[in-house]
Amino acid sequence: MSRAVAGPEIERLIQLLSKLPGLGPRSARRAALHLIQKKDQLLVPLTQAMEVAVDRVVVCSRCGNVDTSDPCTICSDQRRDPHMLVVVEDVADLWALERAGVLNARYHVLGGTLSPLDGVGPDDLSIDALVERVSADAVTEVILAVNATVEGQTTAHFITDRLAGLPVKVSRLAHGVPVGGELDYLDEGTLSAAIRSRTPF
Ligand code: ZN
Repeated sequence: MSRAVAGPEIERLIQLLSKLPGLGPRSARRAALHLIQKKDQLLVPLTQAMEVAVDRVVVCSRCGNVDTSDPCTICSDQRRDPHMLVVVEDVADLWALERAGVLNARYHVLGGTLSPLDGVGPDDLSIDALVERVSADAVTEVILAVNATVEGQTTAHFITDRLAGLPVKVSRLAHGVPVGGELDYLDEGTLSAAIRSRTPF
């Protein structure tokens, strides 16, 4: 059994930090020590930033993004193409696509993927709201930016069926060789997807 090296307050800080993605107990311990040692430069401003976040963070009622305003910054941005919607599984995917900075569109967060084994059906995701948005906002293109997993692709097919009959183009992200990737290191599924999704040169 490991012995506590600090008082319960610090152990609590370590325990909470260890719940963050990418941080295990060891790195949480290092992060806690770093925060404590940088109290004025880091711990105090971080605590203040977190208090503001607790008070002000809301889920956007249009797209499902998290922000400090509703509608969110992206939905309120008049320079974005209102006729192009990018469908993502969760907010992390939305933020990842925004980091890439190639799309000037708006988003729709599904809140997960269809997964009958886990009891996740269409009513658990914001699919009805998506169909309503496509009609109400005269959306002309829906880009299905879901994960290349069985659940992600099942969800993409389901949404495509739901949108059939509406005057909207439905596309999905290409599957294949990552930028900078070497063919020799790719699995067979990725290679065959890359060959099937080949584009004219
Ligand atoms: Zn929004």
